[in-house]
Amino acid sequence: MKTTQVIKGDHLRPRGILAPGFINAHCHLELSHLLGIIPKKTGLIGFIEKVIKLREFEEDLILAKIEEADQFMWSQGIVAVGDISNTLHSSSTKSTSKIKYYTFVEAFDLWQESKSLNYFEGYKKVFEAFDLGTTDQKKSMVPHAPYSVSPNLLEKILNDAKPNSTLSIHHLETALEDQFFLKSEGGFREFYANMGIHPEINLGEYAGSADYLKRYFPRNLKYLLVHNTMMQKSDFETYEASGLDIYLATCAKANLYIEDQIPDYDLWREFKFPICIGTDSLASNDILSVWDEMGTIKRLYPQIEDSELIEWATINGAKALNYKDSLGTIEIGKSPGLNALPIDEKGQLDFSKNITKIA
Ligand SMILES: [Zn+2]
Repeated sequence: MKTTQVIKGDHLRPRGILAPGFINAHCHLELSHLLGIIPKKTGLIGFIEKVIKLREFEEDLILAKIEEADQFMWSQGIVAVGDISNTLHSSSTKSTSKIKYYTFVEAFDLWQESKSLNYFEGYKKVFEAFDLGTTDQKKSMVPHAPYSVSPNLLEKILNDAKPNSTLSIHHLETALEDQFFLKSEGGFREFYANMGIHPEINLGEYAGSADYLKRYFPRNLKYLLVHNTMMQKSDFETYEASGLDIYLATCAKANLYIEDQIPDYDLWREFKFPICIGTDSLASNDILSVWDEMGTIKRLYPQIEDSELIEWATINGAKALNYKDSLGTIEIGKSPGLNALPIDEKGQLDFSKNITKIA
């Protein structure tokens, strides 16, 4: 029988890389009860329709699943989360969590200019009621997506935002999004028509999502664009020319779940916008783990160096969420959390094993 010899000093050999705690740049904690419920690869519109049609769930179940997901993320080395909220369901969990949450109270008016004030006031109430607790939690009111937020509502949100705060927005998750601005039929037009809604927008007034947003976004805020799966080179150039402070969040596993697409990271990396990693929600993912997202990205884009991927998972998200003074790097004066990331014999990150949360 083969025996394992313990070489002198073997216990001192590094088994992993020490890294600061992970930052999950995009999540919807309040959808944690939807694990495994929505079918895969329906496309974004099919996905949204399913979410809308789902019948009400017991509030006790929703709250219990939120609590469970919060504790799970902490156990997986996540120390801060950019979290979308349409309701107050996650408020109590966040106010006492060990995780720092930047809550994005998300507003939309389904592009109905005439109703935008009502929608704004409704979401403003949710925003104001969100309890930040005694820990270092943050909140902003944010637009949902270019195709669901009219200029009226967008301006109200932007006028209300505190200088230097972060605004998150779902962005170019599907090719249909640009078409909304350019075509009179199909896609989101059909989706709205089925609900009896006829968006008050002139066709061709905007060249697409990027053109729409850059006309309204002021330069005194940070923008966290989420998904960007369909972003073209011209969109990157539009933002580059705008001088806006842009961060890109990617949720690779959710993109595969909903649209069966993955962003062109080689194109992303030609530009200087910091890239962050999000898990999206358990409605479109099987696990809320930044490590798992990193493994998926590495499998599809092995040319991305481990060191770069670790930056995506840590410091870039900390900057995007305004937590860089306390999180994101291992430095004196910070309390960034500490994870041991497993490596193989070649010293490469080994995604077949899980991380160990050290602090
Ligand atoms: Zn999302």
